[in-house]
Parts: sequence; structure tokens; C-alpha cells
Amino acid sequence: MMYVPEIIRKKRESHALDYEEIHAVIDGYTKGLVPDYQISALLMAIYFNGMDTQETANLLDAMLNSGVVCDFSSIKAPKVDKHSTGGVGDKVSICLAPLAASAGVSVPMISGRGLGHTGGTLDKLESIPGFNVRLDLKRFEQIVHKYGFCLIGQTDEIAPADRKLYALRDVTATVESIPLITASILSKKLAEGIDALVLDVKAGTGAFMKDIQSARKLARSLCSTARRAGCRTRALITDMNQPLGHAVGNALEVAEAVDFLKGGGPADLREITLVLGSHMLVLGKISSSLEDARTELEKRLVSGEALERFLDVVEAQGGDPEAVMDTRLLPSAPHIEEVSASLSGWVQQTDARTIAMAALELGAGRSKMEDKINPSVGIVLLKKPGEKITAGEALAQIHAADISTARRAASQVFNACLIGDKKSDVSGPVLEEIIQD
Ligand code: URA
Repeated sequence: MMYVPEIIRKKRESHALDYEEIHAVIDGYTKGLVPDYQISALLMAIYFNGMDTQETANLLDAMLNSGVVCDFSSIKAPKVDKHSTGGVGDKVSICLAPLAASAGVSVPMISGRGLGHTGGTLDKLESIPGFNVRLDLKRFEQIVHKYGFCLIGQTDEIAPADRKLYALRDVTATVESIPLITASILSKKLAEGIDALVLDVKAGTGAFMKDIQSARKLARSLCSTARRAGCRTRALITDMNQPLGHAVGNALEVAEAVDFLKGGGPADLREITLVLGSHMLVLGKISSSLEDARTELEKRLVSGEALERFLDVVEAQGGDPEAVMDTRLLPSAPHIEEVSASLSGWVQQTDARTIAMAALELGAGRSKMEDKINPSVGIVLLKKPGEKITAGEALAQIHAADISTARRAASQVFNACLIGDKKSDVSGPVLEEIIQD
């Protein structure tokens, strides 16, 4: 065993750690041989002094190989996934996985739960009655084999080093470090045994990265580290100053994702999904250009193949396909309250973070991992930035468990929406595409 204080000292003095040093501490920590206090000191040294791309790639390698890496070599189709850094109203995975699978890529997607103000794909899917996200890796592989995609939660075998390190970072103020975030995200994604990865790095008030500069830094670090690990990777930077789509809240978001799969859905959700999907098809070498890829995906929406693929997987994962075909069968809240505009004009801004906090207080999210969520509650934004509104007209709908929580959320949502007398300029949801192939 290496002398851990020497490794900490080396990083403290801003020197690069080598492959053996990084593997020794991560393996030792995963096995319980290196104590939390030494790793805490090392994490703080990394937080202040950073890591270069080679060190980050070595950290990723050590974390990835602390657990199982799925072997999908028997599947001939390209294995491509998408990862989002987390946002508000982000139901893209539910739209994209069946769509990309229907166009010929395999999507073995291991997703997360919501914590704090951001939602999680697993919680959303669990609002479909019976839907089981706790499958073992064997069943996961069978479903990906048969239908081209599957959506499950992280199992104990996937990147155990990340689970321990993340919990420690959370209580030692070392979460916000680009190399640590990079290795953490990629250790879980590369454990899916994928050939390529598309990243949706969100920037804005509702995102982990508040401004485009830090989103760009994270996106570049993720792309270059993943590429060094042999995974073809591209990133989009997308807007998270306002929620994505109209719906925020688990069952409400599933219903919106189903609308998309039926050929409708909000324009921003449609745009992000089609752009991410096009990159997936190009990285998977199914299409030779982004334009061709988009045409392929649009065809699968019109023909109903994407929806059919989703219905197959819902059934394979124990969910009720009837509740997908008729989303009125999803859990619904007993109390719906409207929020009206107090003046006429154009919606300038709908602050993502404020809307997320209102949804969290309604019970759509959790403050601690142990909290139980209410799948039926949430917010539907009826008017988004750039749209015209008249005084008295409904801005949003609150779906709540009771009147008092509805009233509180209504006032938060009212404050989140800014109305002005000039038509606001609204850019598309995709802010930048980072392609360093
Ligand atoms: N998400 C992760 O999985 N890891 C991080 O470090 C940050 C966000």
C-alpha cells in the first residue's frame, strides 16, 4: 500500500498524480482500507488544485473499474447513451431513449432520482403504474437486447467508488470541482458499456452550472476525458433559465413526454430531443449527417414506431401501457388551481429555480434521499417566455394535494413569471454544440 499522506501532499503542492497513485487510493478507499479523513483531504486538494485531463481519465478509470462494466458485445447495434447534468422539467430521456432505439441505436440507460430542485427520470417513470426501475443487470441486458433500450436505476455493482466519494464530497464542500464531477458522471455512464455518449450540459438558474462559461468548461472536460477513455462523445449546452416544456412534476412530465412520442409536445422539448437524438445517430454511425439523422427521427415519430417502442419497454418493465395510451390514467392531483396574470404583455422570464422550488414544496421532489415523492403534483406553465398574455388570463396551473399547498405554490409561480410590455426575444433551447471529434 502506498503512503497516502505523500499522495495528498503531492496534490496539495499542485503536482499531477500518476496512474498507480490514483488507483491505489481509489481501490483502497472502495475496500475500506483508506479512511474518510484522508480522502477528504485529498478531495479538498483536488478541489483547489484541479487535475489535468490524464489525471481525470485515470481517476475515471479507477472509479469505473471499482465495479461492473456491462458487456453488450453480443448486441451488434451501436450502444449510445445521453446524459443530462440535470434540470427542471427535463423529461428528455423518456422521449429520446425510445426514439433513438426505434432508429437503430441501443440505449442502455442508467438514470438517477431527483434530489433538491432537479427532477429525476426514475421518479418520473415510476408514476406509470407498475413501472419497475429496480431491475438487475441481467434483466437490463435482456430488455436492451430485445427492444433496443431500457431505463433503470444505479445498482450496487455500478461504480461503488463513486457512491462513497459522492457522499463524502457532499459533506466536505467538494462537489463543485470539474475533474471530480467529470469522473463521477462518466464512471456511471461508461459502466453501461457504451460506444458513444451525448451530453446535455444545462446552463442557467435551474442548473448545476449557472452560467454558460462554467457549463462550457464542464462540457469540454467531459468530452475530452470520455474520449481518452475510448468513448466517442459530444456535448450540447442547453438553456435552463426556464423549465423545459410546460410540465414540471412526475406524472405531468410523463404525460408531456407521451405527447411528444405521439408526434406533439412543446417546441423546446422537441428541439432538444431531436438535436440530441441526431448526434446519437451520427456518433452511432447510423446516419452520416445531422440533417439525415433528424429526418430519420422525425419519420419514427410520424410512423408511431417510437411510441410503440416505448409501450413495449413499459410493458417489459412491469408498467401499464394503458396509462401511456391514455395519460388520464396516470396519478392525478385532487386539487387544481390556476395562476392568472395581473397585467397584459409578453412573458419575459419564467425562472426555472423558483418553479422548481414551488414543485418541490408541492411534493414533486425530495429534500433528502429518504423523502417520498407525490407523483401526481406539479405545475403546468400555460404561457412561456415570448408568449403574449392578457391580464386575468391563466399563466399556469398548480396540481396539488390540498388547497393550502396549492395557494403557496401559486404565489411562488406568480413571482417566477415576469411580464413586460415588449415582445421578448427568446433564443432556442440549444445554446452551443461542442463537437471535438
Ligand atoms: N452528478 C454526478 O453524478 N456527479 C457529480 O459529481 C455531480 C453531478
